[in-house]
Amino acid sequence: MSDTRYLDWPFLDERHRVLARSLDEWAAANIAHAHGPDVDAECKALVRRLGDAGWLRYAVAGTACGGAGEALDTRALCLIRETLARHAGLADFAFAMQGLGSGAISLAGTPGQRERYLTRVARGEALAAFALSEPDAGSDVGAMACAGRVEGDAVVIDGQKSWISNGGIADFYVVFVRTGEAPGVRGISAFIVDAGTPGFEVAERIDVIAPHPLARLRFTGCRVPLAQRLGAPAEGFKIAMRTLDVFRTSVAAAALGFARRALDEALARATTRRMFGQTLADFQLTQAKLAQMATTIESSALLVARAAWLRDQGQSITREAAMAKMVATEGAQKVIDDAVQIFGGLSVVSEMPVERLYREIRSLRIYEGATEVQQLIIGRDLIKAFGKG
Ligand SMILES: Cc1cc2nc3c(=O)[nH]c(=O)nc-3n(C[C@H](O)[C@H](O)[C@H](O)COP(=O)(O)OP(=O)(O)OC[C@H]3O[C@@H](n4cnc5c(N)ncnc54)[C@H](O)[C@@H]3O)c2cc1C
Repeated sequence: MSDTRYLDWPFLDERHRVLARSLDEWAAANIAHAHGPDVDAECKALVRRLGDAGWLRYAVAGTACGGAGEALDTRALCLIRETLARHAGLADFAFAMQGLGSGAISLAGTPGQRERYLTRVARGEALAAFALSEPDAGSDVGAMACAGRVEGDAVVIDGQKSWISNGGIADFYVVFVRTGEAPGVRGISAFIVDAGTPGFEVAERIDVIAPHPLARLRFTGCRVPLAQRLGAPAEGFKIAMRTLDVFRTSVAAAALGFARRALDEALARATTRRMFGQTLADFQLTQAKLAQMATTIESSALLVARAAWLRDQGQSITREAAMAKMVATEGAQKVIDDAVQIFGGLSVVSEMPVERLYREIRSLRIYEGATEVQQLIIGRDLIKAFGKG
């Protein structure tokens, strides 16, 4: 990593600097940038390794159940995702899903639920998944059709969930279902569904350009004890949004990690590739490109640091997290594209680092709220604040 001056920014505490530096060393020694074809096995192994080394303690809240602190430390989450993404996208994915998949339990679980699930997540002994999206309800969460009806002491779930990361390998899923107390997003509740529960199955595995475990899930008369509900009835949407506020900022941090890696790769190539009697980096056109890449990275990093710091101060960060995600993911796409251009033909050779980054960054502009959704969140918040002012 060529430039780590951002670690001295006042948004961070000393413990964050120590964390980032020690994770960087650990990742360099323990994680390969490339991975083999069996992503299920790789993900399980990565979760185990991250758990054994203690990094997953930052993915859950509560020291009693193995967490690093009583609350999720957003700055730590962001630094870990940024660092892992810089080393290997799949390692970032494995860490992120432990956090996103169990985030609703950290934020809204009972002591019993926290003990039962978070302890194993923090040790890397159980894999977690977050199941909100459906084939016809992605950006429009209110269109959710997967339904749960209460029968005695259980909820019976029927319907589908799509695009579920860790689908097929997770040990449990936090599933959001329409329980119908009110129309739209006010009639959704959240339940923890264990893998292997009768009536729950993986309907389809989905192959994507940056391979990781992804699936469509099917629920057919799936009975889940009401004791598995997170929070109160109809609180599901609120719980999902609270979870996303934390993890949206960390998606921005992952994009930042990809972009930093792309800039490092581009610098290494531009300063050694000889052409027309000098190096590629000697050309002013290249210097302008590198300057633009670095400035995009720094502005994304500032937005990520601000959102994470504000949340750690106990403030609501809906607007700030949306700004960070939009700028960091869109910016990283451009930075990586510039790195690809600097590498010339070599950039499109399979498994070159910049080729992998080019595939890995794309879905970050779509999941956990596409860029257009972030624009709407920011725009509406501005108008609301103007109305109040
Ligand atoms: C790799 C990957 C992993 C994922 N993992 C998970 C997971 O673990 N759990 C989970 O629940 N979901 C997951 N998702 C789903 C993801 O959150 C959805 O794909 C996302 O919310 C967009 O929904 P959609 O795909 O249905 O697209 P649509 O909702 O059909 O949107 C398509 C496009 O329309 C545009 N758009 C959206 N809203 C507006 C608007 N108001 N105005 C103008 N344009 C708009 C955007 O450009 C958007 O990309 C994952 C998706 C991917 C690709």
